[in-house]
Amino acid sequence: MHAELLAVGSELTSGQTPNTNVTYLARRLQELGIACLRQIALPDASAIIVEELRQALRRSPLVIVTGGLGPTVDDLTLEAIATATNRPLLLHPPVARRIRAFYHAHHRRLAQRALRQASVPSGAAALPNPLGTAPGLWLRLGTTVLVALPGVPREMRAILDGSVLPRLRRLQRTRPIVSRTIRTIGWVELQIQAALKQILIPPSVEIGLYPHLLMVDARFTVRGRPRRVAVRLLDRLEGALRRRLGHAVYGIDEQTLEGVIGQLLARRHATLAIAESCTGGLVADLITNVPGSSRYFLLGVIAYHNRMKEELLGVSPRLVARHGAVSEPVARAMAEGVRRGAKADYGLAITGIAGPTGGTVKKPVGLVDIGLSDGRRTLTRRCHFVGDRSAVKAQAAQAALDWLRRSLLRRHVTR
Ligand code: ATP
Ligand code: MG
Repeated sequence: MHAELLAVGSELTSGQTPNTNVTYLARRLQELGIACLRQIALPDASAIIVEELRQALRRSPLVIVTGGLGPTVDDLTLEAIATATNRPLLLHPPVARRIRAFYHAHHRRLAQRALRQASVPSGAAALPNPLGTAPGLWLRLGTTVLVALPGVPREMRAILDGSVLPRLRRLQRTRPIVSRTIRTIGWVELQIQAALKQILIPPSVEIGLYPHLLMVDARFTVRGRPRRVAVRLLDRLEGALRRRLGHAVYGIDEQTLEGVIGQLLARRHATLAIAESCTGGLVADLITNVPGSSRYFLLGVIAYHNRMKEELLGVSPRLVARHGAVSEPVARAMAEGVRRGAKADYGLAITGIAGPTGGTVKKPVGLVDIGLSDGRRTLTRRCHFVGDRSAVKAQAAQAALDWLRRSLLRRHVTR
């Protein structure tokens, strides 16, 4: 939920009085998780107040007005609210009684004008003012809430703390913010956007796309609906997006690629060994970020120097000499070598040129060869990534893990 604040009073717009009410209001709202998107000060002028109220009510689910609720002729807020919302002012007998009692207690004669404050726009709840006579107002207009508070700072604070904040807390509970993140890999942002365009998404659902290298998170946010309704809507949207994106969806919300791979390996009672060159252990690092990864992760080798690829992984020196360390044959030999050495079900290997130096015309920076072996067959794939050294490494790790995931889903090494 977000709010906007209107402070009424010519003493504010002229600079006579610092607008401390909005500062206080905004801070208290912030504590509730309600962002304040606008703060507007207005002079005591009916037409302006009405106009601004109308606009604010169109824009924001919560509008709070302070000032101008009193009994004097320059107090125009009540009438302005009545006009802007098309609600007549009706005498509110309990408020009238309270005002009479207040004047009586303070040994003052009740001026007839004082009873003006006892009128509230029809449908509004009067919020008790423990320190004065003008009550606050709480008016629900469809999904919008309009709150009016007196301008006197201590009265404003008393009603806000005593009546408004508890109501807002309840409103936040019954109309929570429910969101779901659909996590994808392998499709670019524009493709995800195109897929989203094919889905019927109600305007009440906010969509955000958050790309990170090869991954794009699509987040749906539903506001102002009961949780049950929101969850059902999100289930439907998730299903529709999954049907369009297929295995590009690797998880939701807090799920990670490496976590999903861990689940798949554990479920299949399968084990994994990894041989890395250009990623320098990044893939093994990700895999071991998952608690319980020792159940399926057997070995990680960082074979950076060619001699180590040969000695530790059994890559033939002739292969390296003929094709170079960054080549599909070497990626294949590394994957098979590490799988064999660890007696694992899957062997995954990455070799590439992270840059910024070391690239050639034939083998530019960003070229990465990935090998994946499941014992029955070994496949390789060649990727070209753009970005600096760390971006190339990170993309290589994401691509390698994603390929492993897709192969686990299909139960064999796949293209
Ligand atoms: P009252 O019943 O006392 O007339 P009201 O709702 O009509 O209350 P105003 O007449 O607008 O309030 O203002 C009352 C006092 O509160 C004034 O002294 C004014 O300067 C001060 N005040 C009004 N608005 C603000 C504000 N936004 N920040 C700080 N002080 C304010
Ligand atoms: Mg006043």
